[in-house]
Amino acid sequence: MRKIAIIGAGVAGISVLNALLKNAYYADCEIVIYDQQKTFGTGLPYQPDSKELLINQTADTMSLIPEDPLDFVKWLEREKGVADGAKKHFSRTWYGEYLKEQLKKAVKAIEPTIIHEYVLNVRVEKNGKYTVETIVGSATYDIVHLCTGHLPYQDPYQLMGENKYYYHPYPLQETLSAIPPKARVGIIGTGLTSIDIMRFLTSQNKEYKIQFFSRTGNFSLYREMESELTLHYLTMKNLNRAKKEHNGYVPLEMMKEWFYLECFSNEIDVKELQVLYGKGTKEQLKKQLINKNPLSKLQTIIYKFDPCLPDFLQALTVEDKKAFFSFYEPLFNHFRTPMPKESLRSLLALWDSGKVDVATGLQNVEVTDSGFDMILAHEKGMHVEYLINATGHDFSMEPSLYQTELINQLIDQQLVQSSEFGGIQVTWPNAEVISPKYGQLKGLYAHGQLIKGTQYVNSARAIMLRAYQVVNESAKEWTQRNV
Ligand SMILES: Cc1cc2nc3c(=O)[nH]c(=O)nc-3n(C[C@H](O)[C@H](O)[C@H](O)COP(=O)(O)OP(=O)(O)OC[C@H]3O[C@@H](n4cnc5c(N)ncnc54)[C@H](O)[C@@H]3O)c2cc1C
Repeated sequence: MRKIAIIGAGVAGISVLNALLKNAYYADCEIVIYDQQKTFGTGLPYQPDSKELLINQTADTMSLIPEDPLDFVKWLEREKGVADGAKKHFSRTWYGEYLKEQLKKAVKAIEPTIIHEYVLNVRVEKNGKYTVETIVGSATYDIVHLCTGHLPYQDPYQLMGENKYYYHPYPLQETLSAIPPKARVGIIGTGLTSIDIMRFLTSQNKEYKIQFFSRTGNFSLYREMESELTLHYLTMKNLNRAKKEHNGYVPLEMMKEWFYLECFSNEIDVKELQVLYGKGTKEQLKKQLINKNPLSKLQTIIYKFDPCLPDFLQALTVEDKKAFFSFYEPLFNHFRTPMPKESLRSLLALWDSGKVDVATGLQNVEVTDSGFDMILAHEKGMHVEYLINATGHDFSMEPSLYQTELINQLIDQQLVQSSEFGGIQVTWPNAEVISPKYGQLKGLYAHGQLIKGTQYVNSARAIMLRAYQVVNESAKEWTQRNV
């Protein structure tokens, strides 16, 4: 009987388990899942927390069932009595409940062994099997799925451990509730985590003075979809044809041309939209809210392109990929990453009323007895009493104090190596780990946030679909190998 370990039980781990359940090849396998109790069945973003923390996509894009894109919408109706929820944003805690239900169903059907411990190490044995170690013992497996998720937060001013500094803010309710009323609170960053923090702090009615700090002071836009729009150029068919013509690669210039043709055929002037909305300044955010969303067609193209995006990136040469990430990705990602419309409205209302403010040109942070001096490039420095880190994750895979023991061990033993574009290197599309010491590691698969540089698209549904593909393809391979 083959033995399979799943390390991590967030979106990726649950999806792997579900995919194993639905593939007859794995019917008589013994399955073991590892994760700490606290985030078992939710992962990091969907653990119980304030209801102010919203899913950044609408409910109709969050189903964990491949063949039923509206499964989460139906769950909302059934469990929460929500009618017409498809195009709305709901709390991440609710999504966590949905995930837990998915996990519970799979556990009932498969009856895996559950070990509520963090995995500390994975070793490769001479016979090609993998030994998984925790504090309570070890076991050996034929197949291991690494679903360990989010890499550590960045700490650009190296403040971890300082009093009144919140390096890892989630769950916000647990971490930030002790900040006293009327405190002057700084948030470093203006990404979606900073919006979570703003929504949570203002919901506390404690009259905080909230100050965002970042280099640019720009925020995400909100997104709306044009359901009738179909892609004609940015398609897998075009990609595969061009790959045949170009020896397995597709020039970035050709992809750019397809993108512009897609936009042109939908009467989108990308250059104009870039000028009007390409930064996310306060004025641009306000302008987006005034009329029918002028970006909806462009956002729909980018959203509908998401499932093909990893394959497009894999078809680039390294030089072209570098060029994409240096010159185009920041703008592409700006139009791609949505903030819920209601969050955008509350940000602007709070900003206008002076309850929050945004400082740009953050250069350094100095620790003082009473908090933090924020050193700015263009304006006078500011002082805050409490400081919350919202600078996002560090995908560089350097061994460090910030990493988990497991990741440090995997790097140290040369089981994994960092991808230039974030996370670890894996084969594509099968997501087998590429080790600098052992080469392609048969049966060691990586998923989700850990392969950010290869998969790029890391929404819950994209991670889930990829997990099914990896599990199903690996079943075929193992069958062919007849082992
Ligand atoms: C704040 C935030 C909000 C987000 N909001 C959305 C959203 O609204 N919509 C969307 O589609 N996507 C969203 N995302 C993207 C998100 O990355 C994915 O949706 C998804 O949750 C990632 O799943 P994962 O399983 O890869 O990682 P995680 O959710 O991080 O789960 C990994 C699990 O592995 C466990 N683990 C880690 N190391 C070990 C170890 N050594 N041993 C055992 N277990 C281990 C962890 O405890 C955790 O439970 C959000 C991301 C963040 C950070």
